[in-house]
Amino acid sequence: MTTPTCPHCGESLKKWRTPPMSNWESPYIWVCFSNECGYFLRSFHWMQSQFKVSAAYRHRLDPLTGETGPLPVWSADALKDQIIETEDPSSTQEE
Ligand SMILES: [Zn+2]
Repeated sequence: MTTPTCPHCGESLKKWRTPPMSNWESPYIWVCFSNECGYFLRSFHWMQSQFKVSAAYRHRLDPLTGETGPLPVWSADALKDQIIETEDPSSTQEE
């Protein structure tokens, strides 16, 4: 399995653990957590100008459906504690 990349900035997407009480059927979704991402930066400025709030959207990809869309975040560091690090996909040391 290859890591998908963000169509907006080219960074590799991160696996993000979906909350238990959410509508996600997948245990994780792919999310672009780059703070340099144009999609993220544009949404950040847009939310500030429109709603005067420091919130933004990150690019996300549903691994089950292949559907992409915005994932709302309330700050640049929000949700990062639920990133599933996958340095080496062939390694199964934690199993
Ligand atoms: Zn991106």
